[in-house]
Amino acid sequence: MFVTGMQKILNYIGGQHTEPLTGRYLQNINPAEGKPYSLVPDSDATDVQQAVEAAQQAFNAWATMPPEKRCAILLRIADLIDRNTEQLALAESTDQGKPLKLARAVDIPRASLNMRFFATAAIHFASEAHITGSEAVNYTLRTPVGVVGCISPWNLPLYLFTWKIAPALAAGCTVVAKPSELTPMTAYLFSKLCTEAGLPHGVLNIVHGLGPKAGQAIVEHPGIPAISFTGGTATGKKIAATAAPMFKKLSLELGGKNPNIVFADCDFDLAVRTSIQAAFSNQGEICLCGSRIFVERSLYQKFTDAFVQQTRGLTVGDPLDEQTRIGALVSEAHLNKVLGYIDLARQEGGTILTGGKQVRPGGRCAHGYFVEPTVISGLSETCRTNQEEIFGPVVTIIPFDSEEEALHMANSTPYGLSATVWTTNLTRAHRVAAQIHSGIIWINCWLFRDLRTPFGGMKQSGVGREGGWEALRFFTEARNVCVKL
Ligand code: NAD
Repeated sequence: MFVTGMQKILNYIGGQHTEPLTGRYLQNINPAEGKPYSLVPDSDATDVQQAVEAAQQAFNAWATMPPEKRCAILLRIADLIDRNTEQLALAESTDQGKPLKLARAVDIPRASLNMRFFATAAIHFASEAHITGSEAVNYTLRTPVGVVGCISPWNLPLYLFTWKIAPALAAGCTVVAKPSELTPMTAYLFSKLCTEAGLPHGVLNIVHGLGPKAGQAIVEHPGIPAISFTGGTATGKKIAATAAPMFKKLSLELGGKNPNIVFADCDFDLAVRTSIQAAFSNQGEICLCGSRIFVERSLYQKFTDAFVQQTRGLTVGDPLDEQTRIGALVSEAHLNKVLGYIDLARQEGGTILTGGKQVRPGGRCAHGYFVEPTVISGLSETCRTNQEEIFGPVVTIIPFDSEEEALHMANSTPYGLSATVWTTNLTRAHRVAAQIHSGIIWINCWLFRDLRTPFGGMKQSGVGREGGWEALRFFTEARNVCVKL
């Protein structure tokens, strides 16, 4: 299934793999090698128009198909993901730079779980009825909203692509999707699995290409009444500005700058070990990474010493090597952004406790985009390093003297995506969780997910909630039918 060399990725429109109408392609770079390995369509509004027409044609049959049949098709896709885990993980790692081991253990299984979860949700989805005394019955009629646009980022390519499209398909919508132009390969392979699973033509259409061109065309298209987007906050603002005057439904999952609060009464070994994962998994390129670590002063030195020591033990290198914990950053531009923030931290008076430099692993990775996992102390919570999303293997560590101070610092950014709290004091755990302005708060764990729970951000981390029924409701239109008794 996976072909090496300059493979051409194709769009998936009306069940066919098609060239972009302009015939133009972009280079798809392998970030571990710093060189192109495949070509991705540079699609524009004409390709999007074709995709919307295909989705419109497929809509009625898909929307009215019995949920059991929709469920069966989506489950077949999940099975095919499972059967092709190795090839998909290799593609994910090659596109994105993440360790192959991580893609195999997390990204691909979670993509399959997304399909499985929403496949079965399709047959359990129900709507409410309200008995208004003896006078009337009000029931809520939910129908699929139509052709929807799903736009996903590069950091967890297949996982987030399926997170967007699975609930849309389960709800009976047809989809025009665009994966990130930086990591298009798994969505392309996924489209082949959809054909193999018997997904009717036009139900899912994938248009590859640049955000401001193909992505913008999806957002602007009058035939698409709902947009589900995951990506950066600046892009989210642009999408909201385009979609709002058209009164489109919007779900925006955006950036984060997440606090990791460590109280002195924590389970120390677990807190250090998991904080390392929260800081550096996927090279720190997870929107939910804990990049600002606040430690109660009485534990600060002990925690910092252990954290720095374990950070130094993380192997940076070839993503295909089973020992590698930190792979390549996704692109040269992103590498320069991350190195720029490390320089900024120095200018702002920070002390680099470990890391801080680009890594050149040699061999096939000699020109790849690698950075040492980096820990910085001595910065205030208000400086730019602690306010702006870096999205790389860079964390800061700051002591605090009271719960109030920890909360104040945790809530001091424009973001509010996730937070982690480490304490064995149950009362404090609940009290602190209720005061953190984040969409998800983990107590004594990180990245644990139950797909039934609402997922999303507060403040500039997003609008709307995904996951569970929230996602299915987003992709449906609710009508209230009032029957007078
Ligand atoms: P990005 O905003 O640059 O791109 C995301 C997607 O939007 C890509 O497919 C891109 O091509 C497209 N796009 C860009 N401009 C567009 C436009 N004008 N109209 C329509 N589409 C457009 O984000 P990224 O760099 O790919 O991803 C990293 C960001 O995503 C980080 O900020 C990260 O925190 C965020 N993220 C958030 C979540 C979450 O669940 N909240 C999850 C993962 C990543």
